[in-house]
Amino acid sequence: MAAMGTLSGVVRLSSYIGRSRRLIFNSAQRRGIASCIDPAHGLSDEQKEFQKMAFDFAAHEMSPHMAEWDEKEIFPVETMRKAAQLGFGGIYVQPEVGGSGLSRLDTSVIFEALSTGCVSTTAYISIHNMCNWMIDTFGNTEQREKFCPELCTMDKFASYCLTEPGSGSDAASLLTTAKLEGDHYILNGSKAFISGGGDTDVYIVMCRTGGKGPKGISCVVVEKDTPGLSFGKKEKKVGWNSQPTRAVILEDCHVPVTNRLGQEGQGFNIAMRGLNGGRINIASCSLGAAHACVQLARDHLLVRKQFGETLSNNQFLQFKLAEMATKLVASRLLLREAALALQESRSDAVSLCSMAKLFVTDECFNICNQALQMHGGYGYLKDYAVQQFVRDIRVHQILEGTNEVMRMIIARSLLSESG
Ligand SMILES: Cc1cc2nc3c(=O)[nH]c(=O)nc-3n(C[C@H](O)[C@H](O)[C@H](O)COP(=O)(O)OP(=O)(O)OC[C@H]3O[C@@H](n4cnc5c(N)ncnc54)[C@H](O)[C@@H]3O)c2cc1C
Repeated sequence: MAAMGTLSGVVRLSSYIGRSRRLIFNSAQRRGIASCIDPAHGLSDEQKEFQKMAFDFAAHEMSPHMAEWDEKEIFPVETMRKAAQLGFGGIYVQPEVGGSGLSRLDTSVIFEALSTGCVSTTAYISIHNMCNWMIDTFGNTEQREKFCPELCTMDKFASYCLTEPGSGSDAASLLTTAKLEGDHYILNGSKAFISGGGDTDVYIVMCRTGGKGPKGISCVVVEKDTPGLSFGKKEKKVGWNSQPTRAVILEDCHVPVTNRLGQEGQGFNIAMRGLNGGRINIASCSLGAAHACVQLARDHLLVRKQFGETLSNNQFLQFKLAEMATKLVASRLLLREAALALQESRSDAVSLCSMAKLFVTDECFNICNQALQMHGGYGYLKDYAVQQFVRDIRVHQILEGTNEVMRMIIARSLLSESG
């Protein structure tokens, strides 16, 4: 899928592949996975190369640390910078500002593979990519040149700030104000649940410059050292522990007008455009977790003996495993179709992204949870990775628009287009 515009990413990816070819296996080869669930199926040779590289990075740079990052709540900055050296800091950002210029499908393939090594870290990288893309797409030349190169290398990290204490699902009711005074906006308000909050450098803040509703919202970039910007306590979470989550507080925070992305009143549209891709990305992280968990479950069934034989001989468990594999592949097919629709700006793209987010994050959570069940009591122990996959992907059903909000978007589209 990646065409000529992808050169900067391809160059970095290819040189890496050349150096470490002997280390690279696709998941099917590495873990002896059955071909019917091979995530390389249907991909171009180039995409298979990206995928191999991402699986390799996940296996060698992330997976060995994922339990420790979770336990000690470590934000693995240096590992993410290594990922950025491979082009993963700006996967779908244009090459002229340092991005890899790859497609949405390529991006999904990469996030799926990275997530097998650590969902939480990959999910933060996906949010960072979304913010980077928003600046690349809606920023002017100065803004793109100022912010994107350092975001692509992950010398700087970004956060997406939409949710407020009083506006979650009803995001367009947000109350953070931005009053124009000369050549600055004065921001007041607070944002809740901000991924990376306090540890990141660039905050993309949706704020109200006009009247009520989505048309009164603008989007500004707030830099970390801006006076008036502060952060709440680090939240204690069920999963996603390798990335901090904090409130972002804005008190008479002076932000230059030159930091506004797009025109006044376009902020909500910019926020939603970012989230369409975000939903594909976050669903890809769930898919990677489910892919890993199907293999973990399969491996466990093959070795664990009860009632005098391995669990793999039990037909109930065989059928469960077959259902998990079927739902895994169905999830992947829908997700990749949605990624294509978004890449091609098709009229069904928003609905398909919502369908993919709803279906994939729900089904993949069920797959991981079933994999935990197949491990019995061992699945509940932190020595076994399956519990971390379950904890880490649970939140994907809640954020970037809850799965109830996904149903609202899909239903609205169906009903508004009916005869
Ligand atoms: C770990 C974590 C990280 C996050 N990171 C970010 C981030 O980086 N940036 C950011 O902006 N936000 C972030 N969020 C916030 C997230 O997007 C919101 O939590 C989410 O949008 C839901 O909003 P809420 O929590 O206020 O729930 P509410 O909107 O209060 O919803 C509560 C429940 O009611 C349901 N509901 C609400 N309205 C309806 C309706 N009309 N019909 C049916 N059901 C309905 C919801 O689906 C949900 O199940 C993060 C959240 C978490 C937990």
